[in-house]
Amino acid sequence: MSDERMPPINDELLYSVEPYKIKVVEPLRATTLIERKVAIETAGYNPILLRAEDVFIDLLTDSGTGAMSDRQWAGMMLGDEAYAGSKNFYHLQATVREHYGYRHIVPTHQGRGAEHILSQMLIKPGDYVPGNMYFPSTRLHQELAGGTFVDVIVDGSYDPANSMPFKGNVDLAKFDALIARVGAERIPYISLAATVNMAGGQPISMANLRAVRELADAHGIRVVLDAARAVENAYFIQQREDGHRHKRVADILLAMCALTDASTMSGKKDALVNIGGWLAVNDDALYEQASNLALAYEGLHTYGGLAGRDMEAMALGIRESVQEEHIHARVRQVEYLGEKLRERGIPIVEPVGGHAVYLDARRFLPHIEQTEFPAHRLAVELYMEAGIRSVERGILSAGRNAQTGEHNPAALELVRLAIPRRVYTQSHLDLVALAIERVYRRRETLRGLKLVHEPNHLRFFQARFELL
Ligand SMILES: *Cc1c(COP(=O)(O)O)cnc(C)c1O
Repeated sequence: MSDERMPPINDELLYSVEPYKIKVVEPLRATTLIERKVAIETAGYNPILLRAEDVFIDLLTDSGTGAMSDRQWAGMMLGDEAYAGSKNFYHLQATVREHYGYRHIVPTHQGRGAEHILSQMLIKPGDYVPGNMYFPSTRLHQELAGGTFVDVIVDGSYDPANSMPFKGNVDLAKFDALIARVGAERIPYISLAATVNMAGGQPISMANLRAVRELADAHGIRVVLDAARAVENAYFIQQREDGHRHKRVADILLAMCALTDASTMSGKKDALVNIGGWLAVNDDALYEQASNLALAYEGLHTYGGLAGRDMEAMALGIRESVQEEHIHARVRQVEYLGEKLRERGIPIVEPVGGHAVYLDARRFLPHIEQTEFPAHRLAVELYMEAGIRSVERGILSAGRNAQTGEHNPAALELVRLAIPRRVYTQSHLDLVALAIERVYRRRETLRGLKLVHEPNHLRFFQARFELL
């Protein structure tokens, strides 16, 4: 065949290939089945308590587990470690203003540092904080400040098989009903996650965000964005929402942020760093108060618990995160794993999210009662099968009601396979799909788990179990 007849390289296809090559490698150690059985037993059948070196493919989280670029590592050498007014702070401030658009930022050691400051500033005991599902640390800080979280996400989010494109949307009727029930003065803000981790990494649409803004404005309620994965959300808007196909992800991100008053950020997600975060606000008085609280809990308002070099890496990471090639390859890699599982008939949450594929444990292990932790059991089995670490997002993560002592209800019972950014290759993901298929074939032989040690807060981190 002559060159003229070769098909042109398809832009889409080219973009789905990793837009980077590997410069530094970190060896992985394969373990034997016996080693894994001992390791997981020692860890109280809780994969979070495993030593990382006993894990072969670590899909526990995409938080702080990404690979930095050569430019980010070079930036680490440009750390200005002045106690006050480090030049890296000003670089970070300028970069957040350019790409997220907020007027003021306070760096924090990670996302929850920002959530803490925000919750302490805005929530009074007895307040209600609506949100499109909850994130554990976000809800915990709301509760520690005396607030009550109220879920106002659309019902479709609770159905893993429902493949609507924007499962992160707010149900405006639910938000309106809450306002009518408790009064707008008891609602300091609505907390919007983009994307919604607990729903499966699902996006909120621009149209919904705008409608939430209008309803909130009508009642004088602030809108706060949890921006940890807002770039991934912006990518889904570009791909799925009418009128956005030809916009740049960077512009969509700015437009999303412009519809909100403030945001908390975990730089460990979209922003491609191993540690860091920020609180961003537009209001001058709120900024004044936030810098003051940062002093007590994080550090001076120009470093907030970070080294100058960390702020530099984060500023550079933000720039890389909004590049079209990067975000396309990032989300497509997650979709690739989803496709491999779908082909094998494995029950997953549809559509596949921006940062993770979620196994639906209710359909995977229908014979295990929810109080015997089917999703967590599945995560344990995946570790035993091939050294793959994943995490439960179901009844264990939902915790207990402090008043009644009952498990909080968890409509979804999922195992999250979170994909770190720029870390694993396609063959790693092929192994993951194969391992899950093998567990699926023997699913009927699995039994549940019994909780034998349970901490008070965020129990999934330290709980211990026995096999039933
Ligand atoms: C990770 C995360 C947080 C908390 O951030 P940390 O950096 O882990 O403290 C809050 N919200 C969402 C959606 C997150 O993914």
